[in-house]
Amino acid sequence: MSETDTGRIGDGAQAGTDTVAGETLVRVRGLEKYYYENDTIVDTLLGRETESVKAVDGIDLDIERGETLGLVGESGCGKSTTGETLLRLREPTGGTVEFDGRDVAEFSDTELTEFRERAQIVFQDPFSSLDPRMTIGDIVTEGLTIHGLPEETPPDTSRQAARRQRAEELLERVGLSADQIDRYPHEFSGGQRQRIGIARALALDPEFVVLDEPVSALDVSVQAQILNLLDDLQDEYGLTYLFIAHDLSVVRHICDRVAVMYLGEVVERGDTDDIFTAPSHPYTEALLESVPRADTSEQGRRVDPLSGDVPSPRNPPSGCRFRTRCPEIIPPAGVDTDQALYRNVVTLRDRLERGEFGTERFRDGENDDEAFKQSVREEFGVDGLSGADADTVEDALEVLANGREADAAQRLTDRFESVCETDAPADHDCGGGQIAACHLHRDDSREPAPDANETAIESAFDDTPADLSDDA
Ligand code: SF4
Repeated sequence: MSETDTGRIGDGAQAGTDTVAGETLVRVRGLEKYYYENDTIVDTLLGRETESVKAVDGIDLDIERGETLGLVGESGCGKSTTGETLLRLREPTGGTVEFDGRDVAEFSDTELTEFRERAQIVFQDPFSSLDPRMTIGDIVTEGLTIHGLPEETPPDTSRQAARRQRAEELLERVGLSADQIDRYPHEFSGGQRQRIGIARALALDPEFVVLDEPVSALDVSVQAQILNLLDDLQDEYGLTYLFIAHDLSVVRHICDRVAVMYLGEVVERGDTDDIFTAPSHPYTEALLESVPRADTSEQGRRVDPLSGDVPSPRNPPSGCRFRTRCPEIIPPAGVDTDQALYRNVVTLRDRLERGEFGTERFRDGENDDEAFKQSVREEFGVDGLSGADADTVEDALEVLANGREADAAQRLTDRFESVCETDAPADHDCGGGQIAACHLHRDDSREPAPDANETAIESAFDDTPADLSDDA
């Protein structure tokens, strides 16, 4: 972004020409953001226990200058909270965020103001993120007004005129017309509003922009235009992006590296191509499997939705948080059953442990214990075991038929407990800078099963959607 003849705007995007690839601009270590429930004085007087919701729970990220890091995962996994917390729009519960080598928590008021010029955000919803009572000129220049910019103006040019000129330049640059500066947001389409949001974010010449699901509220054809615009702006101004998304097909085309989040934690990170062609974490594999395929020969394929129950961040599972849904959860030594059957037994045990089994559902009138046990076997798919595994399940069903849910759960735990629930997985280097937090990559673990879907996953992304090549 060129410094305009209206004088200094900000200190940031001039870095476009100064960008040094490979330097870390944002370094996040152990970032935590918890929300607390039952923590009022009344709750304390009533003896209620404080509950924490761990929206972000100890994540590490490095974002290098000039790159786009994708942060992906299902809704509610903590992606947006991460973006807002590392911009200090929310105060972290723990951990550190360094921006350009400085801990943002230690910024003075002046330094924080400067940081807010250098780091900006584009929000997901282009309808609610623009004040309907302001003209788009006022929206784009609001940051300049708040920060008292530009500091200097050419002779015979008021500061207000300089701001307006800046807004007109930005509107033109994001694909709108300077003539539209006095219009209101409701006069624009969704894609045009997102362009206004981007112009607003660029007004202060930032170096770093958090793009929080910037295209997920837009039609596919408009998404392509906005993605191309973001790509061009990055090249032109040397911007560094954190691109938050749940749509993996979008991420592939704009991100250099990807970090995958699940329930407040980063479970895998690596180069985009590596993540897409050879995912190392079962959750990443499942996310990729759920992406619609462009190839017509693949459109009839069976898509296995993630099995198991989505856990609450109030009470995340022990060990690996993905273990209640993981199709590759690791059986303990001595258990001799196929993976799907083992998964089913563990799901039955989890339901019992959480008190969500619902015994009455399996009691059809006056049915006897055998009928009760058979309906549980059919519902959870735990038929087909053999040896000690079958004996344990039979034993558990027997005590369950007597209404002893906790006992049944304990019997299943005693035999089927997985390392995935007793030990939180550490980060494992899977080669080429790809890191996955999964016990499958421990030296003493079994090798992960060859990915039968790998070819299918690759082909799913072979075709660059035509609409991604067509800028507005
Ligand atoms: S640690 Fe276990 S449960 Fe977690 S992703 Fe790996 S295999 Fe699945």
